[in-house]
Amino acid sequence: MNLQDYIAQADALERDGSAALQGAADADALEAARIAFLGDRQGQVKTLQEALRAISKDDKPAAGKRFNEARTRLESLHAERKTSLDRATAPAAAEDRSLPARRQWRGAKHPVTLVIEEIEGIFRELGFTVAQGPQAETEWYNFGALNFPPNHPALDAHDTMYLEGEGLLRTHTSPVQMRTLQKYVPPIRVLIPGLVHRRDPFDASHAPSFEQIEGLCVDEGISFVDLKATLNRFAERLFGASRTRFRPSFFPFTEPSAEMDVQCGVCGGSGCATCKGTGWIEILGAGMVHPKVLEAAGIDSERYSGWAFGMGPARIAVSRYGIPDIRILYDSDVRFLEQIAE
Ligand SMILES: [Zn+2]
Repeated sequence: MNLQDYIAQADALERDGSAALQGAADADALEAARIAFLGDRQGQVKTLQEALRAISKDDKPAAGKRFNEARTRLESLHAERKTSLDRATAPAAAEDRSLPARRQWRGAKHPVTLVIEEIEGIFRELGFTVAQGPQAETEWYNFGALNFPPNHPALDAHDTMYLEGEGLLRTHTSPVQMRTLQKYVPPIRVLIPGLVHRRDPFDASHAPSFEQIEGLCVDEGISFVDLKATLNRFAERLFGASRTRFRPSFFPFTEPSAEMDVQCGVCGGSGCATCKGTGWIEILGAGMVHPKVLEAAGIDSERYSGWAFGMGPARIAVSRYGIPDIRILYDSDVRFLEQIAE
């Protein structure tokens, strides 16, 4: 073979090889082109190299130079194409890492949910389980079974949201106490969180729908000592309160009844804005379950006795997180929720 023919072959090889390598659409096509042109066994570059043997001694340096140029060019085109295909199939590697990361909003629990869960945790340790019930109730479960006299002001249409036809939206979670008493045989220890509804205005300290949490303990030989000991322990855990006090109160479904206060954790009892200068914060109402309530559920009130309490976790959240207006809890404004999210 003369030098001109050899160089013409090298030119054709370089042209065809460049087109095949640069035009390879994906990794498989590129590999096929590599084998066809740069393959060790039957690649066209290898064949051109072998053809050098047929070149005369005088022409060999020029032919060898042209061969090396063609091979080097095809090898570098192969490497370039491989890099760009790898980048396209691995998007992470193609990201511009100099850009600031996109901020992600992580979902979080509502402040009232956090308080409820903490209360549940404390009572679970004391052997309580969680019970739930319907929000639409009958008058009997909401009032009658709980010893409300027929003329009690809570029954007034101005205080309660009655449903069309019959029934009402429960004004407290106490109907679930009744349903639990009917369903289970003592000993009973349940915690009842849930939404309740009252015909209240929606203002800075009231809402027509809010969370309540009640507790009920019924067994043989339960006395007010059990109530005080359990609730003192609870106050110590939730508020770190070293002192509590019980003031006489009235509820139709408990007898005797009491309001429980914890010593203000902010001022230590000397009086501040949080406790409105009294040194105490009212947290819950409690009492011994009225025998008529036990009897209404078919439980022998001579044999069994019990105690119950109820409180508003939103009120605890308001004082814990220093929330000036209860309506903020209903706004679903993530700027607020983010500050409290854990
Ligand atoms: Zn105080």
